[in-house]
Amino acid sequence: MTTHTPAIAPLPQRAAAIEAALQAHGLDAKTGIEQGVHNAEDVWLPERGARVVAKAWVDAAYRQRLLANGKAAVAEWGIELPPHHRHLVVLENTATVHNVICCTLCSCTAFTVIGLPPDWYKDLNYRARIVRESRSVLREMGLDLPDTMELRVWDTTADTRYMVLPHRPAHTQGWSEAQLAAIVSKDAMIGVARL
Ligand code: FE
Repeated sequence: MTTHTPAIAPLPQRAAAIEAALQAHGLDAKTGIEQGVHNAEDVWLPERGARVVAKAWVDAAYRQRLLANGKAAVAEWGIELPPHHRHLVVLENTATVHNVICCTLCSCTAFTVIGLPPDWYKDLNYRARIVRESRSVLREMGLDLPDTMELRVWDTTADTRYMVLPHRPAHTQGWSEAQLAAIVSKDAMIGVARL
């Protein structure tokens, strides 16, 4: 009987083994990986969510549709969510209410709308602390909310995804939708920044 620890193969060898196993089950790993990289780099960009936010700022009827059924309202822009994202709940920030999202279990986001989650969003530190010490965490991230501002923290689940509809800054009156979209960041749609 041997007692030594088995050596772990180098990463490329392990990746090749996984690909071979997928191919053996009739799954086209190469195409799947290329599609995933393409989606991550070219499709699932926060600019999509930013356009939705800008539209909601200038079009009251669209804002109502977005707040009533986020999934249907982003579909008007050709933005699809995976089937298991059954709901997209849009959380409206106001002058007196601030929303912030997290996934205490892992890393869930509405990534096809607001982009893939940043590394800090997946960090145990953020996930554990944002629900218990929300104001401190936001302050550390550069967002110092007044005590009078109501703060709501939303924990994402597998089937319910969130995005924050940021509060439109007062100095943007008269701006075009394109100008407005350009100031909407992924951080603002997660709720760790205000604009
Ligand atoms: Fe998650």
